[in-house]
Amino acid sequence: MTETNQNWTKEEILDIYNKPLMELIYEASKVHREHHDPLKIQVSKLISIKTGGCSEDCGYCPQAARYHTNIEKNDLMPVEEVLSKAADAKATGSSRVCMGAAWRNVQDGEDFEQVLEMVRGLSAMEMEVCCTLGMVTENQATRLAEAGLHYYNHNIDTSEEYYKDVISTRGFEDRIKTLENVRKSALKVCSGGIIGMGESDNDRIGMLMGLLALSNPPESIPINALVPVEGTPLEGQEIVPVWDVVRMIATTRIVFPKSTVRLSAGRTEISKEGQALCFMAGASSIFAGDKLLTTPNPGDNEDMQLFNILGLTPTEKKKDNTGKVKIRKNQPNAIEEEKWSRPGHTIERNLEATKKAKEIRRELKETN
Ligand code: SF4
Repeated sequence: MTETNQNWTKEEILDIYNKPLMELIYEASKVHREHHDPLKIQVSKLISIKTGGCSEDCGYCPQAARYHTNIEKNDLMPVEEVLSKAADAKATGSSRVCMGAAWRNVQDGEDFEQVLEMVRGLSAMEMEVCCTLGMVTENQATRLAEAGLHYYNHNIDTSEEYYKDVISTRGFEDRIKTLENVRKSALKVCSGGIIGMGESDNDRIGMLMGLLALSNPPESIPINALVPVEGTPLEGQEIVPVWDVVRMIATTRIVFPKSTVRLSAGRTEISKEGQALCFMAGASSIFAGDKLLTTPNPGDNEDMQLFNILGLTPTEKKKDNTGKVKIRKNQPNAIEEEKWSRPGHTIERNLEATKKAKEIRRELKETN
């Protein structure tokens, strides 16, 4: 279990976030060294096992079917293809695979069985395995754990207040419910957020408060910098300054000393020097490969060059008991129903992007 002081107040965390930057990095670096090897970085491979066509309206996401973006859509990938991509990633230093599917929630049936098969295969390859498949019930999370999954990712994205300005098709409370379902299942929790969506510093700290409010803090916290994609409601957002990414990572490191803090999306906009500051401030994981689901990411060679310059090495898979959950003798007969919400409030920029997408599609139809 990740130890942290769950009694932090918002004001205390905001004070940390607003410290003079060099002071903040120094303090975060001290905390980092107490709990982690500062010369090791976990390299994770993200595989998009089902891309695009999602029913949700997340304002940052090019995979939402209602927006017109240039992503290549793909149905659920065959098991062999996933295992082969993972084997390639392992050969170039990745010890962790995260599989992402653009779904609102996991549905029992053929596709879920296929994902379980992928998890079994990856777990047998001695890699740490994580999935991000949307909302899950406790039973589905338990089945994933029994198949050998280590972590389940479900980001809370931002503060509860700002969340309503970004997503209208599922509530913040659904995110929390999913994370609590995951926690009950023996899986480790991976949850973090995105900065650069137009939120205030207060919202960034609100996101950390949301994670602190969970029954146990996440073992893994991805910090993403928005990659504004043309066609999405947030296409016009300015790239978040690297200093904000460093601040956010350092603050997360101090508040969650034992968690793995992951420098995730948005790395292509951060110089090598900026990434070095992120590592110094407590980031201990990156995602490898030239694509992160649908957005660009530095390639493997570039990352290895950076590791060589900084004297960093990729971590091996940790030896622990996750991924070895005892399979229940009596599998539940009845599939539990979870009532996920659909708030459906109006977010002007999401509606605007949806309208624009409809016009583009109509024009394309007329010209074909
Ligand atoms: S973030 Fe996930 S749930 Fe939201 S639109 Fe994208 S794929 Fe769908």
